[in-house]
Amino acid sequence: AKQAGRDQVIVFDEQMEYLLNDYEKLELDLKSSIDNEQIDVSFQPILTADGKNLESLEVLGRWFHPKLGLINPDRFIPIAENARLIRRYTLGVLKKACLVAKMEFGIYPDLRLSVNISVQEMLEDDFFNDLHEVLLETDYPPHLLNLEITESLFVKNESELAKPMQQCNELGIKFHIDDFGSAYSSIARLHTLPIDVLKIDKAFIKRIGEGGEELIRAVIEMAHSLKMKVICEGVETTEQALCIIELGGDYIQGYLYSKPMAISELSMWLHKLNY
Ligand code: C2E
Ligand code: CA
Ligand code: CA
Ligand code: CA
Repeated sequence: AKQAGRDQVIVFDEQMEYLLNDYEKLELDLKSSIDNEQIDVSFQPILTADGKNLESLEVLGRWFHPKLGLINPDRFIPIAENARLIRRYTLGVLKKACLVAKMEFGIYPDLRLSVNISVQEMLEDDFFNDLHEVLLETDYPPHLLNLEITESLFVKNESELAKPMQQCNELGIKFHIDDFGSAYSSIARLHTLPIDVLKIDKAFIKRIGEGGEELIRAVIEMAHSLKMKVICEGVETTEQALCIIELGGDYIQGYLYSKPMAISELSMWLHKLNY
């Protein structure tokens, strides 16, 4: 606990305290975990709105720190970006995920992956070459890969992103715009780039029943008129799912259908889906 002002006490949790006091140490720990390929991956299904068919598995990074336990990506991704470790991190995560997906091809052929990409790394030279190399090395088909880019960062760097996006697109890689709605970008502007899917931010899904339907309806209508699909993420209740189905949403991701799963849980889940 830290004293702030006269009688106001702010309590930090242990991770937060470590972060504030020893940021450099944490950065070194992260570097070593990345170098030793110790970052785990979890997989969360993105399903057709009716919950019956799989669109893809979103790959989410999990860092288990020896002293602090599980650290959320919301905390360690910014550290990796700051320390210019994000590139190596992403390539490592992509490699692990591709190998896992390929092992499941027996149960589920054509298993697609959705991988989060930080815009910062997409702007670096050789982004495309390094990505391509991992796909070749793991023998994972590029047309089964979706890359998710966050809307706010996407909008700021639209023109610089055109080239790497085209290169990926030529291999058959698809692009999803993540957290859509929060930066209020105009969908029409996105039309000049190879974007296949808009993911509506979970903040808007939470507001279903309190007026959130209107934004969702507008995004779905415009996306469909531009031949894009829509994923609604953070869907936790049946009411939300029914509303999204009624509005014509294509895909749903969220605790209602499945939480992110560890590698060990994945096979079983895919089996159940198939039969
Ligand atoms: P995101 O890309 O928007 O991922 C969705 C987040 O929502 C995930 O949190 C997921 O576990 C959580 N979520 C899924 N369904 C539900 C639900 O029904 N309700 C609620 N309340 N939450 C749900 P997670 O795994 O903690 O990831 C947080 C963020 O960290 C991600 O947000 C993404 O921006 C970033 N991230 C995660 N893995 C990576 C990665 O490998 N690379 C990069 N660049 N970013 C990553
Ligand atoms: Ca995402
Ligand atoms: Ca998201
Ligand atoms: Ca997010």
